[in-house]
Amino acid sequence: MPYDFDLFVIGGGSAGVRCGRIAAGHGARVGIAEERFWGGTCVNVGCVPKKIMVNAAEYGQWAQDAAAFGWSIESHGHDWGKLAAARDAEVSRLSGIYTRLLQGAGATVFEARASFLDAHTLQVGDRRITAERIVIATGGRPTRLDIPGAELGLISDDLFALKALPKRVAVLGSGYIALEFACILRGLGAEVDLVYRASLPLRGFDEDIRLALAEALTAQGIRLNADTSPTRIARVGDQFMLSLSTNFMREVDAVFFCTGREPNTAGLGLDAAGIETDANGAVVVDDDHATSRKHVFAIGDVIHRVNLTPMATAVGHALADTLFGGNPRKVSYENVPTAVFTSPPIGTVGMTEAEAAARGPVDVYVTRFTPMRHAISGRAGRRTLMKLIVCQKTRRVLGAHMLGEDAGEIMQGIGIAVVMRATKEDFDRTIGIHPTAAEEFVTLRTRAREAGVA
Ligand code: NDP
Repeated sequence: MPYDFDLFVIGGGSAGVRCGRIAAGHGARVGIAEERFWGGTCVNVGCVPKKIMVNAAEYGQWAQDAAAFGWSIESHGHDWGKLAAARDAEVSRLSGIYTRLLQGAGATVFEARASFLDAHTLQVGDRRITAERIVIATGGRPTRLDIPGAELGLISDDLFALKALPKRVAVLGSGYIALEFACILRGLGAEVDLVYRASLPLRGFDEDIRLALAEALTAQGIRLNADTSPTRIARVGDQFMLSLSTNFMREVDAVFFCTGREPNTAGLGLDAAGIETDANGAVVVDDDHATSRKHVFAIGDVIHRVNLTPMATAVGHALADTLFGGNPRKVSYENVPTAVFTSPPIGTVGMTEAEAAARGPVDVYVTRFTPMRHAISGRAGRRTLMKLIVCQKTRRVLGAHMLGEDAGEIMQGIGIAVVMRATKEDFDRTIGIHPTAAEEFVTLRTRAREAGVA
């Protein structure tokens, strides 16, 4: 046989592991290399440990809310070490499962760095390996802004290595990571400043959600510094002084850069293989995820498209089915449901009102209410917002958005309806589950406004 492997996967994260495992299951001779940790960002320094910490932050507030329901709970504060140990044990368990799944499927696993020597040859640790097809699934990594003292700031990976809760924190940025981190740290008791350059957090999301989110963040005591950029970080004893473009300063125990991630392509030897990248360093791929060398593919965050784990696994699976399973198929990048695990969380699928209105007339349905739990608990900033955007012509629901308890859980089901091209009338004839917040999605009777009308 001319090549050592039918398929070699570089990177053992969500995309690479799924692709390698399924390809091996189809009978391909698969090798896969990972230099850092199996399961990649999601399992080790992303979704999984983050969600555990979101739960931890929420429990503290639930314990307080319980008083209104008649419970008398004495709090002795939060034990960071205990949470970290439970979180790390779960991460190790899941990371182990990833390796075992690969080995169980018959893939050859390399705990080493891989880089291209030429288009079919890789240096994997101290070995040279050839492969007929190669998949680049090396993910991304957090970046810092280029400001003086940037090296004093933390990146998202660092949250999971901290030995104690920093008491005063500045979180830079207002994307997914910044907002989730701000809510976790605040929920666990830190004073939090969120510093972002836009006028509202979470650019790209529906405007009503962004407005409601800003209210909810303020209500839980997160200080919002909108229209503001960080200009410098300086060390002052054990603390840091963060200078802002507004000429204000913040003395804090930690500064987190949550200002974006970049594709992990540096040092991969892509030039040696003739593989193109774009200005952001992302691997350029076509609709089949093929790179500029047609036997080399790239999937997951390294292509910097929709940087979400379920997207990466779905694409990895489809690629393996296409190449080795006799089942050529593509995964749609449209109508991808997503959640931001803020407090309360956000769930969304489909177009924002502005996106939909730019394409034609839409009916907009919005409701805001206090969910039953918080009617009793009285906790501030926990009003729920739900919104549907409906095409006037086809009556299809083009977008659904929610800020409120369990938004991620609720939006998964709504996502199915939107992907199936459900109409508003389909929503209306669905019987609600009572009493829930979710039932509001099928009882939105009165149009709040129309948009996109010429
Ligand atoms: P995002 O793209 O969501 O946010 C980046 C933030 O950095 C934005 O607020 C952006 O501001 C800001 N920023 C970028 N450049 C600058 C600059 N030069 N100066 C000031 N601010 C700047 O990236 P994240 O790193 O938060 O997350 C990466 C991706 O990971 C997400 O897009 C998402 O796909 C995924 N993710 C998903 C999660 C989930 O599913 N729950 C959780 C975490 C991450 P501006 O908006 O003004 O550009």
